[in-house]
Amino acid sequence: MKNIHLPTIAIVLPCYNEEAALPLSIPVLQDILIRLKSDEKISEASFILCVDDGSSDATWETICALNKQNNDVKGVVLAHNRGHQYALLAGLMSAKDTCDAAISIDADLQDDPEAIVKMVDHFRAGIDIVYGVRQSRETDSWFKRTSARAFYKLQSLMGLQTVYDHADYRLMSKRALDILSEYQEQNLFLRGIVPQIGLSTAIVYYDRNERVAGESKYPLGKMLSFSIDGITSFTAKPMRYIFVLGTILLFIDLFVAIYVLVAYFCGHTVSGWSSIMLSIWFFGSLLLMSVGVVGEYIGKIFVETKHRPRFNIKETTDQSYDSADE
Ligand code: UDP
Ligand code: MG
Repeated sequence: MKNIHLPTIAIVLPCYNEEAALPLSIPVLQDILIRLKSDEKISEASFILCVDDGSSDATWETICALNKQNNDVKGVVLAHNRGHQYALLAGLMSAKDTCDAAISIDADLQDDPEAIVKMVDHFRAGIDIVYGVRQSRETDSWFKRTSARAFYKLQSLMGLQTVYDHADYRLMSKRALDILSEYQEQNLFLRGIVPQIGLSTAIVYYDRNERVAGESKYPLGKMLSFSIDGITSFTAKPMRYIFVLGTILLFIDLFVAIYVLVAYFCGHTVSGWSSIMLSIWFFGSLLLMSVGVVGEYIGKIFVETKHRPRFNIKETTDQSYDSADE
């Protein structure tokens, strides 16, 4: 029997001072929607949702004008500029109850929008989360490429699980969005939260282009603080490393003590050197270990205050959560 339920897809764009980019990027996305609708892959109710992140230019007026031309383009405006992650969350949460899946993409269309078609195909096959992953970083400068790699390494070393070379270009089913809404934390790092949701996932590779118009809102400084925020808002592992370091130092301390005592008894030392050496090493490592122990408790408080869901149910025998056509 032919399926009659076609999924409703929302394309969500966080927009900050994007008056120049939107008139170019929205028609491209509309074309993709029209194509998907006429191929009967998505429902006629599918739409584009632009979230104006408290822009200071005419972004909101542009969104309203686009909405007047075509009702497929909807808009939400935030009262303040809260940053890309919050604007995106606002969009996803606004769209969640009127769509079967939402796709987040930057307003500058640097991420190839054609990947949307493949994301929808995966969703129709029952996948809940589809990550857009960059095919290569050839278009990036050497510095951007190297620093990005270094940060991915640092993040995984610190216990933060992310998808390599995936930014925030992804599809999430309504189920995944419902679970996301239970993550109530203030310091938002979606790239860390989404892999924790733990439903079925797939990857779609795409090429990254230049901005269609306007300038980047993410200069180097903002990017650095975003990466560090990612680690500190996600994991308390750095504090555990302090404890481990203190323990290692205490161990080394034993050898230092042997060396100092041998030197002392052989008479190769000036007076006072041995006692200073022993106390510096011993108290240094003891202090680090103590900070580490305090850190373990702070780490627990840190996790408790986030009120993250303690488990996410993937499936039950009573109900199939297949998000594809029913
Ligand atoms: N953005 C936002 N709020 C901000 C900064 C950026 O909503 O405070 C949006 C921006 O409009 C764009 C996306 O986040 O849609 C990514 O920003 P941008 O393209 O400037 O970053 P880049 O691609 O240069 O890293
Ligand atoms: Mg961009």
